[in-house]
Amino acid sequence: MRKISEFLKVPNDNPSLTVAQYEAFSKQVPLLYFILITNMAALSWTHRDSAPSWMVIYLPTFLSAFFLYRAYSWVRKWSVKVEAAEAYRMLRATNRLAPPIAIFCVGWSIALMPYGDAYQQAHVAFFMAITVIGVIFCLMHLRSAALTVTAMVNIPFFFLMVMSGQPTFIATGINVVLVTGAMILVLLSHYRDFMQLTESRQVFLSQREVLKEKNREMQLLSDENLRLANMDSLTLLANRRCFFDVLQRAFERARQGGQRLSVGIVDLDGFKPVNDLYGHAAGDRVLVEVGRRLNEMATENLTVYRLGGDEFAVIHEGLHDEAVLQSVGQNLCLAVAEPIDIGSGAAHVTASIGFAIYPDIGDSAQDLYERADYALYTAKRNQRGGIVIFNSAQSITLSRHRQVEEALLAADLEKEMSLVFQPIIDIQTGRCVGFEALARWNSPVIGRVSPGEFIPLAEHNGRIGTITRQLLAHALEEAKDWPGNTFLSFNLSPHDIATPENVLRIIAVVEASGFDPKRINFEITETAVTRDFAQAAKSIDLLRDLGTGISLDDFGTGYSSLNHVHKLPLSKIKIDGSFVTQIDSRPASYKIVKSVLSLCEDMGLEAIVEGVETEAELKVLKEMGVGVVQGFHFSKPVEAQAARDMVTPAGQNADLQEQRKHP
Ligand code: C2E
Ligand code: MG
Ligand code: MG
Repeated sequence: MRKISEFLKVPNDNPSLTVAQYEAFSKQVPLLYFILITNMAALSWTHRDSAPSWMVIYLPTFLSAFFLYRAYSWVRKWSVKVEAAEAYRMLRATNRLAPPIAIFCVGWSIALMPYGDAYQQAHVAFFMAITVIGVIFCLMHLRSAALTVTAMVNIPFFFLMVMSGQPTFIATGINVVLVTGAMILVLLSHYRDFMQLTESRQVFLSQREVLKEKNREMQLLSDENLRLANMDSLTLLANRRCFFDVLQRAFERARQGGQRLSVGIVDLDGFKPVNDLYGHAAGDRVLVEVGRRLNEMATENLTVYRLGGDEFAVIHEGLHDEAVLQSVGQNLCLAVAEPIDIGSGAAHVTASIGFAIYPDIGDSAQDLYERADYALYTAKRNQRGGIVIFNSAQSITLSRHRQVEEALLAADLEKEMSLVFQPIIDIQTGRCVGFEALARWNSPVIGRVSPGEFIPLAEHNGRIGTITRQLLAHALEEAKDWPGNTFLSFNLSPHDIATPENVLRIIAVVEASGFDPKRINFEITETAVTRDFAQAAKSIDLLRDLGTGISLDDFGTGYSSLNHVHKLPLSKIKIDGSFVTQIDSRPASYKIVKSVLSLCEDMGLEAIVEGVETEAELKVLKEMGVGVVQGFHFSKPVEAQAARDMVTPAGQNADLQEQRKHP
C-alpha cells in the first residue's frame, strides 16, 4: 500500500532529482497540452453537426484556452533557474491537476458517444486511446501523474468498450489496455533509469565539487605556506629568503631598465646587552618594535626585511643618489634610536647601516648584498650608529680581503704559519720577564700577511679556532725551553672565548703540553669583552681556574667601560702603544697613561705598556713608575731561537744589548 502511495506521490526526498524531474518535465508539458488541444479539436470537429454546440464549441474552446494558459506558464519558466522547493510545488500542482483533466476528457468523450454514428464513435475510441498514449509519453518524468491518468482513462475506456457489445470496440478496448500496460512498464523502467542517471550525475557533480573544494584548500594551504616561508614569524616582516628573492628580481629590473637600486643592511648596536640584562622577551620586544618602525618608512620603492638576529635590510628601487640614500639612512637611524618600551623600562638601541648602490658598484644581486654588508662592517668598526655607503676605497680593501680569505682557506696552516716572540721587559731591572707570541703567515700565493690582517678574516671564516690551537701548542713547546721565571703571553681572539667549548679546547691544549699554566698569560682584546660580556667573564673564569693570567690587550682603543674592567677577574692590563707614542710631548697621552696606571694600582692589576719605541718615552714611563714594557725600543718580535738565547743565562744580556743597538 505504502509502495503504491509512494508511486503516486511526487518525490521530494532528493532536491536534485526534483529539479531534474522538473526541468525534463517542463520541456514536455507544452507538448502534452498540444496533444490535448489538437485531439479535442479533432473530436469536436467530427461531432460539430451531431452534438450540441456547448459540447463541441464552447466547452473545448474554454478548455483549450485554459490548456494554452497552463502551457504558457510552464514555457515562461524555461529560462528561469528553479529551486527545488518551487520545482516541487509545480510538479505537485500538475499531479493534482492531472486527475480532474483526465476525468473531464474521459467524461467529455464518453458524453459524445451517443451523438455520433459508428465512425464518430470509433473516433471517440481513437481519441481516448491516442490521448492516453500521448499523455503517458509526455508525463514520463512525472510517474505519479502518468499512472493516475492511465488508470483514470483506461478503466472507464475499457468498460465502455466492453459494454458496447461491439466486437471491434471490445478488441480495441483490450488492445489499448494491453498497449498502455506495456507502455507503463516502459515508462517505469525509463523513470528508474532517469533517477539513476540523475543520482550518478549528482554524485559526479558532488565529487567534482569536493575535488574543487579540495583544490581550493590545497591552493590556500600552499599560498599560506608560501606566505609563512617568506615571513619572519617574530616581526612579521618579509624574511631573509624573501629578501634575496626580491633583491634578485629588483636587480634584474634595474639592470634591464638602467635604473638605480640600493641595498641597505641594518644592524643594531646595543641589542645584546638588552637581551643579556632584561631577557629574551625584552629582546624580542625590541626587535618587533624596531621592525615596526623601519616598516613605517616603507614605500612603494622602499621595502623592509628582517635578515635574522638583530639584522634588518632595506631595498630601495628607483631614482636616487647618495644624498637621498644618506637621508633615508638617517631617518631609519633616528627611528631606531627612539627609546623602546620593554615593560620594565626603556631600551636604547641604535642602528648602523651599510649601503651599496647599483650601478655604481655590483655585478650581481649577491655582489650588491656583499658590498652593503662590507659597508656595514666598516660602519660598525669605525663609527657606532653610523651610515656607510660602499665606496671605491672600500672596494679595494674588500677585494684584498677576498684574496686573503681565499688564500687562508686554502692554506696549509702547519707549513705556512709560524711564531715570533717579542720580549716583555721589566724596566727597573732590564730583565726579559716573558715573551708575547705573535703569529706570522707566509703564504706561497700572496706572500707575507700580517696578523692584524688575517686574524680578523680567520675569525670571519671560522679558521681561527684551528689556528689558535696549533699556534698555542707550538708556543708552549717553545716556552718549555725558557727558564721557570719567564712567562708566555699568548693572544686569544674573540671567537676563542665566545663559547665554553672553545675555551675547553684551549684548556685541553694547555694540559696536553704539560706546561705550567701559571706561566701563561692569555691576552684578550676589549672587542672580545664588549661583544658578549657575560660569556667573556665566564671564559676568563675558566682560564683563571686553570691558573693562567689574563691581560686586557690594547686597553683604551675599544669601548669597554671601566665598570666592565672592574667586574672581570683580570690579572694585567696592556696599555695600547698609541698612548705611548710621543708621551714625552703629548700631555693628553701622559694623562691617560697616568690615570690607567692608578686604576691598575687601585684594582691590584699589573700594567704593561706596549709600543715603547724611544728612549724618551721610556724615560717618562720610568718616572711614572711603570714596571713592565714591551716595544721596538727593546726588541722587535724575534724568532724562537733568538728568544731562547735571550733568556738563557749565556745569551741574555748580550742579545738585549744587540737588540737595543738595532731596534
Ligand atoms: P697585539 O697583541 O697588540 O701585539 C702587539 C703588536 O704590536 C704586534 O704586531 C707587534 O709586532 C707590535 N709592536 C710591538 N712593539 C711595537 C712597537 O714598539 N711599535 C709598533 N709600532 N708596534 C709594535 P703584530 O705582530 O703585527 O700583531 C698585530 C696584532 O695581531 C696583535 O696585536 C694581536 O692582536 C694580533 N695577533 C698576533 N698574533 C696573534 C695570534 O697568534 N692570535 C691572535 N688571536 N691574535 C694575534
Ligand atoms: Mg697582544
Ligand atoms: Mg696590544
